[in-house]
Amino acid sequence: MKFVGAHVSASGGVDNAPLNAIKIGAKAFALFTKNQRQWVAKPLEEKMIESFKANLKKSGIEPKYVLPHDSYLINLGNPDIEKLEKSREAFIDELIRCDQLGLKLLNFHPGSHLVKVGKKDPEYADKIMEAELNCLNLIAESMNLAIEATKDLDVKLVIENTAGQGTNLGYKFEHLGHLINKVEDKSRVGVCLDTCHTFTSGYDLRTLEAYDKTMDEFEKLVGFEYLCGMHINDSKPKLGSRVDRHHSLGEGEIGWDAFRFIMNDSRMDGIPLVLETINSDIWDREIEALYNLIEEV
Ligand SMILES: [Zn+2]
Ligand SMILES: [Zn+2]
Repeated sequence: MKFVGAHVSASGGVDNAPLNAIKIGAKAFALFTKNQRQWVAKPLEEKMIESFKANLKKSGIEPKYVLPHDSYLINLGNPDIEKLEKSREAFIDELIRCDQLGLKLLNFHPGSHLVKVGKKDPEYADKIMEAELNCLNLIAESMNLAIEATKDLDVKLVIENTAGQGTNLGYKFEHLGHLINKVEDKSRVGVCLDTCHTFTSGYDLRTLEAYDKTMDEFEKLVGFEYLCGMHINDSKPKLGSRVDRHHSLGEGEIGWDAFRFIMNDSRMDGIPLVLETINSDIWDREIEALYNLIEEV
């Protein structure tokens, strides 16, 4: 069974998120548990936690279909040690907030290496490769530290693949595999595939042949047992452009076929499938359209 929803607003309080989800006919949703553009947030109050749990129950959506997203400021691979510390602390706080809300997943972008290398540098390729490897190892260390600091909590660290914009890591399935390999407690790690990021990082999804090839690669380099959720977005930029710009379903470069393949792929059963498309006014229709793609067997 498929569980489709959207990244809904939590403005006015996280307890509004489940209510916003049911309004659009969602069976899953994502949310920020704090302002995603600020470092510090006041701790969740007991009253707010209770209200969130009550509204979630009312919505009929099980906690496992909720995919919280961490703050955009966090960079678990920041080469600046002070900034890295700040990110690690904020990330642990995010894990605690998820646990307080009774949620089991935390979706995050791996991080960015921030190293500047001139395109004309004769050693460009080597220097970038080294910066990426150092960054990946730093991210893995951050993940292990966060897991250790929250070892009594049952919250998975869900790595999202990225478009590879700027110096963002996570644009190759190999990056996700590398991180999983280095995480000691594999029961605490998962992966979220974003269709826009997958496509703009160079993995095609537009024909059944291309889709199968991409998913075979994913199985080989990561493994579907780690897939904890997906972000369902069309893409404004072209295949392999490494630019992160979402579009409404069917209006971008990916097109409806890819979403039909996903909705009929049993490997995407039982996980949150979350829209982050650009027009929230049509999320209800996009959710319905996705369910309508399911073919009777
Ligand atoms: Zn995403
Ligand atoms: Zn994106």
